[in-house]
Amino acid sequence: MNLRILYDNEAKVGWGEGEGLKSDWGFSCLVEAEGRKGEKVLFDTGASAEILSHNLRKLGIKREEIEIIALSHEHWDHVGGLETVLHENVVVYLPRSFTRAAKRKIEEQAAGVEVVEVSGPAEIVPGVHTTGELETGTAGLKEQSLVLEATSGKGGEGVVVLTGCAHPGLENILEAAGRFGEVYGVVGGFHGFDRLELLAGLELVVPCHCTVRKQEILERFPKKTAWCGAGVTVEV
Ligand SMILES: [Zn+2]
Ligand SMILES: [Zn+2]
Repeated sequence: MNLRILYDNEAKVGWGEGEGLKSDWGFSCLVEAEGRKGEKVLFDTGASAEILSHNLRKLGIKREEIEIIALSHEHWDHVGGLETVLHENVVVYLPRSFTRAAKRKIEEQAAGVEVVEVSGPAEIVPGVHTTGELETGTAGLKEQSLVLEATSGKGGEGVVVLTGCAHPGLENILEAAGRFGEVYGVVGGFHGFDRLELLAGLELVVPCHCTVRKQEILERFPKKTAWCGAGVTVEV
């Protein structure tokens, strides 16, 4: 399974795939579950439709290829680019706690779009699960993370967690993800997570987006971490 970072506070520079992508505050990641139904699951959409569509174009990804979109939480830097990836055959998984106005807006933006409200842990497509909406400590705001069954062999039978901002606390998300298998990795925004010692037991750590201690995590765990930015692909 490949995770392709489409939108991040930083972007890869250089030549080859991923070159020429724009960076911006926000997060979006494409999950490519090869050979499985619902092959491409888009997790979050960044802040700007213009930047997301620029980055998709640069990578040669058409929105019609994306059949499923999962939104972690209702913050502008995760839902802002949604309009550019909506089309009539897409299913949008969002936490049930999303405001009614936001749900209505999605349904109005594209005829035929199906909205699925997530509350508890569930399978989205084979190999891709949601933790369900978790409390964040901010009234009314809940967040879901994805839990992916590794297929590359690197993680054995384990799972990799994909987070948006990790507002519920990364330690709580990792615990919730444990129901789907042994957690061997985590990719995404960790926000203010500071119990770095908990990362020592993982095999793959890719701190993205809003991770306050990104640099420190990269330096402390050089063998298990990878730098995150738009254009980066992580194989799990
Ligand atoms: Zn957020
Ligand atoms: Zn964020």
